[in-house]
Amino acid sequence: MTENILEIKDLTVSFDGFKALNNLTFSMRPGELRVIIGPNGAGKTTFLDVITGKVKPTIGKVVFKGKTISGLSEHTVSRMGIGRKFQTPRVYLNLTVRENLDLACNQNKNVFSTLFSKAKSTEKNQTVSLLETIGLTEKADIQASWLAHGEKQRLEIGMLVAQSPDLLLVDEPVAGLTDEETENVGNLLLALAESHSLIVIEHDMEFVRQIARQVTVLHQGSVLCEGSMNEVQNDPRVIEVYLGEAPTVTPEQMNLIRLAASMAWADGSFAPEQKAVILTRLSEQFTNDSQHQEQLKEELANYLGSNVPLDQLTAGLTTPEEKEMALRLSYEVIRSNGVNELENIVYQQLLDLLALPAETVQAIAAEIDAQYSQSHQD
Ligand code: ADP
Ligand code: MG
Repeated sequence: MTENILEIKDLTVSFDGFKALNNLTFSMRPGELRVIIGPNGAGKTTFLDVITGKVKPTIGKVVFKGKTISGLSEHTVSRMGIGRKFQTPRVYLNLTVRENLDLACNQNKNVFSTLFSKAKSTEKNQTVSLLETIGLTEKADIQASWLAHGEKQRLEIGMLVAQSPDLLLVDEPVAGLTDEETENVGNLLLALAESHSLIVIEHDMEFVRQIARQVTVLHQGSVLCEGSMNEVQNDPRVIEVYLGEAPTVTPEQMNLIRLAASMAWADGSFAPEQKAVILTRLSEQFTNDSQHQEQLKEELANYLGSNVPLDQLTAGLTTPEEKEMALRLSYEVIRSNGVNELENIVYQQLLDLLALPAETVQAIAAEIDAQYSQSHQD
């Protein structure tokens, strides 16, 4: 058994008697990508502060790669192999993207020697491959000040990686980013997770779904629960503390919405019109009251999970009515922006799993097709 890269036991951090972290126990295996979520004030940032040495524990210790690091300076902790990405990018705006990376690769040298000495070929190779990893090869020679916010975030993540840390800590990397940049950053983190241990703190639930494997939920300075995204999302305690109040969404509704979302995700993209169809149709299915529909739509949006195997979702459908509803919703979702090949494949799988009579399937599809061809003529 390999030892945990990070081990924290019964750790408490008090600020004037207020326990920002309270008896917190946490461990992580090397190579893991762990996402930490939790409501505001749960202690997420303090958790990173105590790992990096910015804040000292009141009780307990932090063990990294078998060594106690709590009590050491931030600088020492960073040299031992923990890199931290703060929320706002900290790049040199007047240097080019490449120069920023070169500099990060040469932490022990100063700015001048990096810029004016000839880089060794290994260093050059490292920068070239980093540029590729962060998707900024084309922008290598432009000044960092010209980058979009999301590109700056990726550059800073690249600079962090350049220092070859064993453990990367990333605090809310997609706050304020466009959907497209959010996806880029997500893909970058997933790529890094292949060769690094990563802790990502995040608020954006949709982003968490994109990247999360193992999720830890913090609440009032302690670990409330841990598990896959689906497990924690279905945990009533999480729903209560994280989503505010107890949901009116039933497990059947959750199941249906995930099924429809999986259909929409079949081609690797979840179009806004698909999302709108799912939320509108489902909320209409379950209530006639328009105000309640709006509330339900908002709640349902929290459950738009992806990556749940289809057979697992269809296993939750028992009655023919439920199956028909699942079929109707799924077909409508993929039909909403034109059925493409990948979506069709998943649709065929769904049909196999549902095993509804062929006439039923055809009738439902024909009905929805008619609706769409009609609305196109309008
Ligand atoms: P999160 O990042 O999950 O929103 P934080 O770790 O920032 O939560 O904060 C946890 C709690 O600790 C909050 O109630 C916050 O007000 C308090 N806290 C954080 N830092 C300090 C500090 N330096 N002094 C006093 N209280 C603090
Ligand atoms: Mg915070």
